Amino acid sequence: MKTMKAFVMKGIGKVAFMEKPRPQSPGPNDAVIKTTRAMVCTSDVHTMKGGVGDRQDLTFGHEAVGVVYELGSEVKSVKIGDRVAISAITPCYKCENCLRGYTSQCTQMLGGWKFANIKDGTFAEYFHVNDAEANLAPIPQNVPDEAAVYTCDMMSTGFMGAERADIPLGGTVAVFAQGPVGLMATAGARLLGAGMIIAVESVPNRKELALHFGADKVIDFTQVDAVEEIVRLTNGQGVDAAIECLGSQVTFEACIKATRPGGTISVTGYFGDGQYVNIPRVAWGVGLGDKTIRTGLCPGGKVRMQQLLRLIENGRIDPSPLTTHTFPFAEVDKAFKLMETKADGMIKPIIMF
Ligand SMILES: [Zn+2]
Ligand SMILES: [Zn+2]
Repeated sequence: MKTMKAFVMKGIGKVAFMEKPRPQSPGPNDAVIKTTRAMVCTSDVHTMKGGVGDRQDLTFGHEAVGVVYELGSEVKSVKIGDRVAISAITPCYKCENCLRGYTSQCTQMLGGWKFANIKDGTFAEYFHVNDAEANLAPIPQNVPDEAAVYTCDMMSTGFMGAERADIPLGGTVAVFAQGPVGLMATAGARLLGAGMIIAVESVPNRKELALHFGADKVIDFTQVDAVEEIVRLTNGQGVDAAIECLGSQVTFEACIKATRPGGTISVTGYFGDGQYVNIPRVAWGVGLGDKTIRTGLCPGGKVRMQQLLRLIENGRIDPSPLTTHTFPFAEVDKAFKLMETKADGMIKPIIMF
């Protein structure tokens, strides 16, 4: 049996390289992809720490692009050797939740998230993709792999944060935390026509990128009270929408406080610990404030990927400035470590295969 190198979780808090059998002979609807570029995600770090429970020898990674290596007999729209992008979320498009329109919740809650959750992920020389006809998106010729790999999660999730926020054309929006997802939420808010975008962040290179991707103001929460400043900037009203991009009690709470009545709080963060998330009662209008809290998991599937790739292809957005580091696959453990500490100005590392 042919083997390949993979980077895996060895129980909670432990990672390692290991040799694994190469996925082969995909089912009639599936595919095997030869990895070319991947990225480490903060979600991988949450998972390593046990955010979704214990895993043994599970290959990490859910963000990758590659070339089609093997195809099931029923997959007709791509061919061997095509460059393709695959979302972090690979729904089946057959189950009840998919048919209801909630493809990221395929089969069960969060079930569209299969890579490095319920099956081996993308930190390997090859990986398997279920329901390939619906999940493989050919990469346009003028879009490099290094840009395309941002469609897998960062662009899809960040833009989702902006889309679900129902920002009125010309409306006001606050984006809490400017990590890679938050920066893409900022970019998404601009693409969707927000009239004023307020980013909340304290790390210098992230503050700069927030302005680059469309923020009009950046609030450093270490210098001023972010909620007070947002209320001030909106003439005492609060924002039409707040986007939570960290996954913490503090930012979630601030989103509710900073949003005006009738506004929307759009959550993209992965709340990695604790049993409960608390809602500030009074700022929530004691439950009667017409404030909508929306949540979602990275939209997946071919059509979504094609839409995101089109935005890159036609110059609407270039996600490349998010790349702060590049590592060969043999050093993915170093990238992983940096992702955990966010040292050295880490925003996003690209892994080269
Ligand atoms: Zn991710
Ligand atoms: Zn499904």
